[in-house]
Amino acid sequence: MNKREPFDLIVVGAGTAGLSCSVTAAGLGLKVAVIEQMREIGGTLHRTSGFMSAAGTRRQRSQGITDDSVELHLSDTLNIARRGFNPALIERAVRSAPETLDWLDGLGFRFHPDTPAIYYGHEPFSVPRTYWGEAAGESILEVIKPLWDRFVADGSIIPYLGHSLGELDAIAGTVRGVTVADMKSGEIVHLTGRSIVLATGGFGSNPKMYSKYSSRSATPPSAAMPGSQGAGHLAALAIGAEIRPAKEILRTGRFALKNDPTRVDLTIQADFDALLRDPREIWVNRQGRRFVDETCHVNTEHEYALLEQEDQTFWAVFDQTALLGGKSLIRGWTPEDYAAAAKSDSHTVYSADSIASLADAAGIHSLGLIETVDEWNDSVGKRQLWRNGAQMSVQTSPYYAVRCQGAILTTFSGLWLDESQRVLTSSGKPLSNLYAAGEVMGAAACSGEAWVGGMCVTPALALGRNLARDIDQLYRSGEGRVGSLS
Ligand SMILES: Cc1cc2nc3c(=O)[nH]c(=O)nc-3n(C[C@H](O)[C@H](O)[C@H](O)COP(=O)(O)OP(=O)(O)OC[C@H]3O[C@@H](n4cnc5c(N)ncnc54)[C@H](O)[C@@H]3O)c2cc1C
Repeated sequence: MNKREPFDLIVVGAGTAGLSCSVTAAGLGLKVAVIEQMREIGGTLHRTSGFMSAAGTRRQRSQGITDDSVELHLSDTLNIARRGFNPALIERAVRSAPETLDWLDGLGFRFHPDTPAIYYGHEPFSVPRTYWGEAAGESILEVIKPLWDRFVADGSIIPYLGHSLGELDAIAGTVRGVTVADMKSGEIVHLTGRSIVLATGGFGSNPKMYSKYSSRSATPPSAAMPGSQGAGHLAALAIGAEIRPAKEILRTGRFALKNDPTRVDLTIQADFDALLRDPREIWVNRQGRRFVDETCHVNTEHEYALLEQEDQTFWAVFDQTALLGGKSLIRGWTPEDYAAAAKSDSHTVYSADSIASLADAAGIHSLGLIETVDEWNDSVGKRQLWRNGAQMSVQTSPYYAVRCQGAILTTFSGLWLDESQRVLTSSGKPLSNLYAAGEVMGAAACSGEAWVGGMCVTPALALGRNLARDIDQLYRSGEGRVGSLS
């Protein structure tokens, strides 16, 4: 086993949080080791939409938005998040968000020209404070990478790419270092460090962990990076840390891959959010029953109703008239695309000339669907079953069903942390120099029991930076020394 020099900081994971933490720490003069299992840096930045939220930014002012404040951002966030968040961390994230956005701005971040905007794919904020880049998450990576390259070149950051976290080496509540394995040669390396930051992301690609913390037997398809296996959680659990189970919310509008139902097909997306697109479909569960007002503007209500359905699956059912009018449910699809997908046995789109045949093809309870469609058609023009009143009957063949299963984007359960992001043991005591940032702390920490727009990427970046500054400050004030690290 090899021994390497002690580092001021060891960051495990070179994704959203790990990158912001490590380049900030290196910029403050700390000697940093970064462990990353992949051969390239970036983690979920290669996949995320990269929506962020912040109040009082330079970008807002440049677009004439001057009536926003951190207090308003915080109160909007708490309202949408509802419960189940970590109040100290949510406040920390919101307060550091503007500085983080200004930092990206200063690095040359390519803001999408429409931003900041009010984004309606989640419950919206009250003012335009959502930002994204022209190249989604890659836009964030493209401005951080030059800093990374510079610090790697001058030796402030020692990267261990292609190395996987093994164990945390802890004695009496202090972590002395980490054991990592070179994934190519199998060589085991032991690194010692004064502080360790776990930034290994979520566990959205680990069905066993997902089913344990979500308490659901069926694992939904996942859009998370394949490397989101919960390695940081598991290493911390092994030295006494605790995972706080949270409500694991799923996302609508993503579809499973035909050949691998555990993974999301990243090439198609649908807009089930009523504020993004006026629905023209009824949603039914496996019994063929409607379970929610499709036009409800509170997305979280849709997401909660979905969690109650068998296998968190529903079908959007509509007829030829709905297909030919209005905006497509699946982004960018033409009516011909639906017909072709139905013919190709895609497991997502079904079509038939009668409701009974449609139900049989799609795997919906036939009598249930027939009854629901009859009731629905009877009520058109008589009773308002949709909040916007624009009910459309389902009576012109061919009929269609689009099968949607809620998908994992992030995991909400995560390591239990104190307000300084120190990892807590099950007895509530902090491990003195073990910290966490990003999804490993659970999306619930800053998003509670809902999707709060941008409240995964923004906290990952902002709290990653904060952590680097806090650790530096601790060293400067003479605290946080962990003694001999030989
Ligand atoms: C499709 C999609 C869209 C999303 N859109 C948004 C959005 O618009 N806004 C928003 O706020 N959130 C969004 N999210 C969530 C958000 O992007 C993530 O929560 C966030 O980027 C996670 O950052 P992280 O640093 O915690 O993890 P990551 O960026 O995943 O980084 C973790 C890193 O740790 C590495 N690692 C893991 N295990 C090990 C190990 N054993 N050894 C060494 N290295 C390891 C990984 O390879 C990875 O590089 C989205 C997520 C997905 C999947």
